[in-house]
Amino acid sequence: MNERILIVEDEPKIARLVADYLTGSGFESHHIEHGDAVLPWLDKADPMPALVLLDLMLPGTDGLTLCREIRQRWPRLPVIMLTARVEEVDRLLGLELGADDYICKPFSPREVVARVRAVLRRAQAAAGEHPAATRDALPLELDAAGWRALADGRDLGLTAVEFQLLKVMMQAPGQIFSRDQLMDHMYRDHRIVSERTVDSHVKKLRRKIAEVWPEREIIRSVYSVGYKYQPEE
Ligand code: CA
Repeated sequence: MNERILIVEDEPKIARLVADYLTGSGFESHHIEHGDAVLPWLDKADPMPALVLLDLMLPGTDGLTLCREIRQRWPRLPVIMLTARVEEVDRLLGLELGADDYICKPFSPREVVARVRAVLRRAQAAAGEHPAATRDALPLELDAAGWRALADGRDLGLTAVEFQLLKVMMQAPGQIFSRDQLMDHMYRDHRIVSERTVDSHVKKLRRKIAEVWPEREIIRSVYSVGYKYQPEE
């Protein structure tokens, strides 16, 4: 049976467009317009959806509350939040809702399908048959005392800032960090650095990792949001 995606969206046009693309990509979908109807539906859903696309602004119970509630009651059900503004994502990240990804409107339905696939792949890998192997596969080793990062035993030769960036992201694999959050960890007074500074440090960090592992992309950029450490597919 095809995986079912729950679309929670009060704009019928958007919901229909996304549903059409999902169907065209081999998914089933179910659409709910009103926030109050989501939890009762999930309570009875059989089978459970594989993933929830959750709009932030909804009539009735809002997306924030719903995301928290879903995290608590169905911790393994992935959630992708749909938001109307890029700036909002920073605020959402700060709230640590535990959403698996964020997509800003206007979005292309193709992008939504790609993100849905990526999040599902990750969720399935995390739930996977070999959880121990996944842990063992953590590729980088941090030597906090020496401010060194080792990849297969090789010192990456990171600067203090690069080390700090990597350490912050490695503490929460899969979690998306905004540039703002990363700056907070890098500098006491981050007013003096720009977001582009973060990008340039991340770029160098990635280049150093790529020298050891050209085929692995373990620091990923999340379009228009920030970065995350993702050791596995
Ligand atoms: Ca809305």
